[in-house]
Amino acid sequence: MKKILVANRGEIALRVMKTAQKMGIKTVAVYSTADRNAPHVKFADEAVLIGEAPSSESYLRGDKIIEAAQQLKVDGIHPGYGFLSENAGFAEDVEKNGITFIGPRSKAITIMGSKLAAKEAVKKYDIPMVPGIDEAITDVEEAKKIALEIGFPILIKASAGGGGKGMRIVEKEKDLADQMKRAISEAESAFGDGSVFIEKYISSPRHIEIQVLADTHGNTLHLFERECSIQRRHQKVVEEAPSVVLTEEIRKKMGEAAVRVAKACDYIGAGTVEFLLDDDKNFYFLEMNTRLQVEHPVTELITGIDLVEQQIRVARGEELKFAQKDLEINGHALELRVYAEDPLNDFLPSVGKLERYRTPHQEGIRLDDGFEEGMEVPIYYDPMLAKLITYGKSREEAIQLMIQAINSYEVEGVMTTLPFGKFVCEHEAFRSGNFDTHFVKKYYSAEKLESEIEEEARLAAVIALKQYLRDQQQLRLPSN
Ligand code: ADP
Ligand code: ADP
Ligand code: MG
Repeated sequence: MKKILVANRGEIALRVMKTAQKMGIKTVAVYSTADRNAPHVKFADEAVLIGEAPSSESYLRGDKIIEAAQQLKVDGIHPGYGFLSENAGFAEDVEKNGITFIGPRSKAITIMGSKLAAKEAVKKYDIPMVPGIDEAITDVEEAKKIALEIGFPILIKASAGGGGKGMRIVEKEKDLADQMKRAISEAESAFGDGSVFIEKYISSPRHIEIQVLADTHGNTLHLFERECSIQRRHQKVVEEAPSVVLTEEIRKKMGEAAVRVAKACDYIGAGTVEFLLDDDKNFYFLEMNTRLQVEHPVTELITGIDLVEQQIRVARGEELKFAQKDLEINGHALELRVYAEDPLNDFLPSVGKLERYRTPHQEGIRLDDGFEEGMEVPIYYDPMLAKLITYGKSREEAIQLMIQAINSYEVEGVMTTLPFGKFVCEHEAFRSGNFDTHFVKKYYSAEKLESEIEEEARLAAVIALKQYLRDQQQLRLPSN
């Protein structure tokens, strides 16, 4: 593989290209008119404009991307995450055109792209599942019967859902009919597939996922867990590895279950098997994401393995150079997704120009970003600016470093999740490790964050005043 095209933008495009460059592989960027001056375009050896700003006219145009790849004689296409990364048709078209798709085979993408097909596929492999049904449901009466059997609250989920979208909690029987109708029509319009199903709503779960890696020689391994329970709108904001709640025994069991899930769909490359863990430490299979995951860096830091490098090696047909017994966890890593969102206003997207953008640089801090000072944050795409990742010998050290990193990260022009990240890191529930997916609902409010910010500003003002008075005194001294 001499040349790779990255069919993505932002931080992930840059991150993939950096590893390719390290491996001596040339890189090709694709970009939309909104991203003309983006860092991923500047970084690549070659870059191709593929269309207008809306992703349906650019980053989702598989045909144009493949055409560009052929013209530039590209050997492989890396899809990153989001966009075409979980599009089985795209993976197939890439291969049909004689280019290597750096990811799993399209069959695995198809199976795992549907939460229902995924459940069906892994059923035979002794994988614990969330109580519920494993087929699409349209009949309200039947849904009621099932919900009563499982017990309220229940969750209606879109089979084709993703990114935290397409889920509805139903607390009481009387709300079921109405919620189901909404869920079906939402799934229809958001994913083009109205299939919904029912799962028991686990009341205080932790989201714990396992990184898997498989080659084409029959080796399938896991690279331990990531804890992703700090979420807003069912989507992760803070992730860490390892999780404080897993014992060696559960870690081993979950790892082995994840490997069986991967094997159930003949998985190749890097993938993630997501689980929920309940209060009694029972775990249940949620879904599998057949791509590089946003939060993969925390796994890289605790294992010392570059996952993009492994993806490329596997795509080249190489055998994994390590076995399960060679892998171990070293230290602790924490990631904060820095979104251009306003944590004081319900995490609504906050787009605009990055008037000021200064990033932290220090040992133990890794920043994966795709923006520069003066750039506009486009409204067309996911509003994630960067991933701020810290690594320490202990969890305490990683948390302390995260607070320092947040303090020295300066962003002006848009609101970001940075202050929220600090709120999390300073919160007793997070520090003690005693939290679940309801952290935000339970402990967070804009008012609390505001009063913390005010308190900090007050302290800063007091310090500044003291300094001023000291300076005044010193100035006066010589004249005395
Ligand atoms: P991860 O699953 O890697 O932790 P997310 O769930 O946040 O991360 O999704 C990764 C990216 O893919 C995000 O940019 C998200 O917006 C996008 N995404 C995920 N699933 C879908 C989907 N079904 N439709 C559109 N975008 C999606
Ligand atoms: P997506 O494809 O959007 O990532 P997931 O099935 O992975 O959907 O679920 C996303 C999040 O929604 C989980 O991390 C968890 O917080 C919540 N969730 C999903 N299923 C359940 C459930 N049965 N009970 C409680 N929470 C759930
Ligand atoms: Mg998920």
